[in-house]
Amino acid sequence: MIELKTEKEVEMMKPAGKFVASILKSLRESVKVGTNLLEIDDYVRNAIVSRAGAESCYVDYAPDFGTGPFAHYICTSVNDAVLHGIPFDYALKDGDLVSLDLAINVDGWVADSAISFVVGNAREEDLRIIKATEEALAAGIAQAVPGNRLGDISAAIGEVAHGYGYDVNLEFGGHGVGRIMHGDPHVPNDGVKGRGYRLRKGLVIAIEPWFMQTTDEIYQDENDGWTLRSADGSRGAHSEHTIALTDDGPIILTDRD
Ligand code: MG
Repeated sequence: MIELKTEKEVEMMKPAGKFVASILKSLRESVKVGTNLLEIDDYVRNAIVSRAGAESCYVDYAPDFGTGPFAHYICTSVNDAVLHGIPFDYALKDGDLVSLDLAINVDGWVADSAISFVVGNAREEDLRIIKATEEALAAGIAQAVPGNRLGDISAAIGEVAHGYGYDVNLEFGGHGVGRIMHGDPHVPNDGVKGRGYRLRKGLVIAIEPWFMQTTDEIYQDENDGWTLRSADGSRGAHSEHTIALTDDGPIILTDRD
C-alpha cells in the first residue's frame, strides 16, 4: 500500500534525512586509500549510538533477498560489488570504486541515501559510471512532481543509462520510504513515460539508480549471503536520495549541500 505523508509528517522526516546526509558527507571526505570497511561501519555505529532517537535500519534487517540479519550499520560495496555489500576486513586500495548505502531511522522516520566515489587515482570509466548514476538520479528527481506518473521517473533514469550505453537491472530499484525503509511503490530504474501510478503530493520515495559497466546481471556472493556483484566482474555505481513530493517541487530530504 502506498502511504502519503502530510506536510507535518514530511517535516518530521527531515531530521532523519539530514542525519543520513551528514554521515555520508563526512565519509565522503574521510574515506581514502587504506581505510578499512570495518572502520566505516564503526564510524556509522558510533554516530547512530551517540544520537538520541536514532536506530539502524540494517543491523537486524533480514529480508528474503539476504541471508540472515545484515548485522552491520552501512552497506559498503566495492568495485564489482554494487549493492548490499557487507562491510568486512578490507583496506581500500588505490583506484577502488566505493558505494556507500545508508538508511537510518530517527524518531520513527527513515531516510535512505547512497553515494559512489573512487579513492586515490580514478580510472576514467569509473568516474563515467558514477557521473551517469548522479545524472540519472537528478533526472529522476526532476520528474518527481505531483501529476506525473511513476513511469516518468523510471523512464528519465533509464534514458540517462542508455545514453551512456549502460543496461539497466530491474530486480532492485527505488521504493517508498516512511516508518519503514522499504515500502510501496517500487521505483524501477527504467520504464515507460506516462505509465504507472499517478504521483501525488506527500509521496516519499527513495530514487536510486545503480548501473554496472558491461552487464545488467548480478549474483549474490555466496560467502556472505548478501553482497550483490556484477555477473561479469565489471564495476558498478549507485546514487540515491530520499525525496518528498510537494506542490512546490521535490524536496531532497537527504541533500548533502
Ligand atoms: Mg539505500
